[in-house]
Formats: sequence, C-alpha cells, structure tokens
Amino acid sequence: MKTLAAKKTAAKARLMLIGGEFVPAADGALRDVIDPATGAVIARVPEASRADVRRAVDAARAAFDSGPWRSTTALERAKLLFKVADGIRAEAAALAELEVRNMGKPLAEAEYDVADAANCFEFYAGLATKVHGETMSVPANSLSFVVREPVGVAGQIIPWNYPLLMAAWKLAPALAAGCVCVLKPSELTPLTALELAHIIHAAGFPPGVVNIVTGPGAGAGQELAESPKVDKVAFTGGTVTGRKIAIAATGNLKKVTLELGGKNPNIVFADADFEAAVDGALFAAFANQGEVCSAGSRLLVDKRIHKALVEAMLKKVPRIKLGHGMTPGVKMGPLVSAAHRDKVEEYVRIGKAEGAKLLCGGRRPAGKEFAGGFFLEPTIFDGVSPAMRIAREEIFGPILSVIEFETEEEALRIANDTDYGLAAGVWTSSITRGLRAVRALRAGITWINTYHPTFNEMPWGGYKQSGNGRELGLYGIEAYLETKQVNVNLDEAPLAWY
Ligand code: NDP
Repeated sequence: MKTLAAKKTAAKARLMLIGGEFVPAADGALRDVIDPATGAVIARVPEASRADVRRAVDAARAAFDSGPWRSTTALERAKLLFKVADGIRAEAAALAELEVRNMGKPLAEAEYDVADAANCFEFYAGLATKVHGETMSVPANSLSFVVREPVGVAGQIIPWNYPLLMAAWKLAPALAAGCVCVLKPSELTPLTALELAHIIHAAGFPPGVVNIVTGPGAGAGQELAESPKVDKVAFTGGTVTGRKIAIAATGNLKKVTLELGGKNPNIVFADADFEAAVDGALFAAFANQGEVCSAGSRLLVDKRIHKALVEAMLKKVPRIKLGHGMTPGVKMGPLVSAAHRDKVEEYVRIGKAEGAKLLCGGRRPAGKEFAGGFFLEPTIFDGVSPAMRIAREEIFGPILSVIEFETEEEALRIANDTDYGLAAGVWTSSITRGLRAVRALRAGITWINTYHPTFNEMPWGGYKQSGNGRELGLYGIEAYLETKQVNVNLDEAPLAWY
C-alpha cells in the first residue's frame, strides 16, 4: 500500500470505494475540500450523485445476497477487522494530520481520535466471535433456539465533527455482525474516510462489502435513507436531519438508529472539588471547538460558588490558544466552515439580545494568522435563564451558557428541562448526591466528576430527541443483528390435527 503522504502528492482528486474499486463520480463531478483554518482548498473529492449511491448500494446488495461475505465465519471477519485496526495504527500520524487539516481540530485531539478509531475496530473484532443466541425452555418434544444474523445492507451517514471516529463507530460493529456497508461521510470532511477506504481495501474485504461514497447530504445521503435496497440506516448528525432520515426510511420500513444532538447540562454543586470543576467546565464546553454532540454547553452552578467559579474560568480561558490545529500548543481550532461560524455567531447576537451577560469571546480573533480561517473565540455567557434560546438550542460551537441554581432539586429540574437527552455531567464530593443526580437525569450518557470520556465498551446514545438506539459496546452490534427463532420438532409422529 502506498503511504498516505505519497498518495497526497500523487493524487489531487481522490476516489470513492464502490464494489471493490476506486472510482470517480460517474459524471466526473468534483467538490473542493477546504482547510477551515486557512480557507485553502486542500483536496478534491468526487461529488457522488444519487446514481453513484445506487451503484454502491447495488454493489453492497450483491455482496450480501450472492457474494462470499455471508459464508465467512465470525473469526474470518474478526481477522479482517484486526487488520483494519493495524492499518489505522500504521498510518496514525498521517491520518491525524489529515483530520486536523480537513476538520480543524487540534492535533492532540485528532491523535486521540485516530487511536480510538483503531481501538474501536479492535473491540468489534474481538466481539465478532462472541455473538450468540440462546436456547429456550419449551415443551419437552421441541428444541428451540435463537440465531443471530446480519441485518443486511447498512446505509451509514456520518457528520463532520469526528470524521474518522464516526466512520469507525459505524463500520466496525456492522462488519463484525456480518453486514455490508455503504458509508457516506459529510461533504465537508471526507478525507480520512477515503483514506480508511484504502486501509479497508488493503485488508482484503471482498468487493462490495464496504463502499464509501462522498456526496451531499440532500442527494447522496437522502438516496441512502430512501433506497428500498438498504435494510438499515444508521445516522449521526443533527436532529432536524435525523427526522428527515426517519421519514425517508419509512418507504421500505428499514431499521433506523439515530445519534443526534444535545444541549447537555454540566452541574457543579458547591461541594465539588473546585479546581477539577473549573477545568471540567471548560473542557466540557470547548473541547473540539464545542462541536461535540455531548458538549457541556449548559453550565449549572450552585449560587454559593457561582462568582468564584466564573472568575476562575475567566482566568483560564486565555490558555485556550486558538490557531491552526497543527501549530504546537494550539488548544482550539477553527469552526468547520464559514457557514457554520455564521450560525454560531448568530447565537452570540441572540444571547446579547436576550439579556445574557457576555463575559468573554463572541468575536473573531484578530491577527494575520486567523485571516483566512473560520475562527471564533471561546465565549461564555453568564446570567443565562433556562428559557433563553442560548440555553435551549444546540449551538454546536464554543459558546457556554452559565445558569445559577439554589437547590439540588432546582438544578435537576433545569437540567431535564430540554427536548434533548444525550449527556450530562455532575461535579460533587458526595457520592450519594452524584448518584442521586444521575438517577434523576434523563440522559443516555452521564459523568460524575469528569466530562467527555467515551469508551468503546460502553453504550453511546440519547434519550428523548437525542436519538434512537445505541452505538458502541455490546449494544452497538445489536443494531446490526436480526433475531431468528428456530423450532425443531423432536417428535417424529405426524401432528394428526386433521
Ligand atoms: P447534519 O445533520 O447536517 O449532517 C450529518 C450527515 O447527514 C452528513 O453526512 C450530511 O451530509 C448528511 N445529511 C444532511 N442532510 C441529509 C439528508 N436530507 N438526508 C441524508 N443525509 C443528510 O449534521 P452536521 O454534519 O452539521 O453535524 C452536526 C450535528 O450532528 C449536530 O447537531 C450534532 O449534535 C450532531 N452529532 C451528533 C452526534 C451523536 O453522537 N449524537 C455526534 C456528532 C454529531 P453533508 O454534510 O454532506 O451535507
């Protein structure tokens, strides 16, 4: 396999993986890919049309219905997935750099994501051979058992905030289960998924088992969600798009899992370790530029420590160095696109108009090094009331809303007063208070005295309008498995019913 660096210079326009071959869009259409820190075009990728997606779905359908994939053993699938993990590790440095240049995040975060993506393939490689059914207790003249089988063709649509990691979260469990995949990355961040296509191809998957198509959501993505030949659609993205996907999927009643947005509460009680809570509040809000579905974008603080906590956060904010993610020491990169920065900036205006107090940020940083990129300073609003739009709507950028509370009961009421239910954090030195709080919180992911750790072994997903189903862990593979009951008559005599 060519190294990534060699490919970068050799190939200006990259190709999609369809039916085991690297191909352009059938009509030759291309899209520019931008480095959001500079605004420069760094690559060109095929702009798949609906027809290209249909070609990929047909290749996947053929691989599932008549290819060798369904007769592979779980151990054979596991070995291929281990190879993908190894392939990612072998290219880790180049993949991390590509992620930074395409998505904007700081290098240290990209390196973490790449390592986690390899770990995800490894986790599901290990799990592939542990999928099993059950035997049921039934009348004595019968034997009944359950067989788990792959759902079939999985259409997988992922967002731009964790491009490689989201591809791993989708592909690894599906392939472990024996499904075949058509993956569509965001049109903004297709580069690491296209590199992953090379790693997957080199690992030796049969043609059509993994197809990676690059194209716009409204055409290519919608086609995947609508296609009658796709058995299941797995989507990560915004709640509005999630609703469209769910509707599109009704045509053939395909199975749907949705990982959607959040407006996640991070609650600091007065008895919390103060320094840890200050760090935790900033990291929860500003990691990955706040472009995280689970970002702790609502900071709920006990009135007794509110002033001190806000002051301590403001002292630390200048340490969040903005810049190109490849520049050493940078802690926050640009937002992913000019359009997205416009959307996030609009919330600065909304927050001010609603009467919240802007404590810091809200501006584009000054300086030549920021001129071409889509940067926005880390922004904190204080005096936010739970009814304000900046406290209710997902901003998906570096804007933190600080809300004061007086009692535990009030904190939990405010925390749950949202249409979302993805994640929540609690900071306290009382384990009973911490556990009492997470028990009351209506969210799929909860943290006590930490924020953001994610484990491949643990389920990920939301309550309420944050989604449907779970990814990762044992739960993640369930989404790609059918359940078949097998009943065996142990009595050789005819039924003699008639
Ligand atoms: P979008 O919902 O706009 O896009 C997500 C993916 O869906 C992209 O690949 C996009 O393609 C595609 N898409 C867009 N429209 C359609 C359509 N009509 N039919 C099919 N596919 C479509 O989200 P963003 O990319 O803007 O990502 C940010 C959102 O994702 C946030 O709201 C965030 O909360 C959520 N998210 C949730 C996560 C979770 O685990 N719950 C994790 C990460 C993000 P394209 O970009 O090419 O248009």
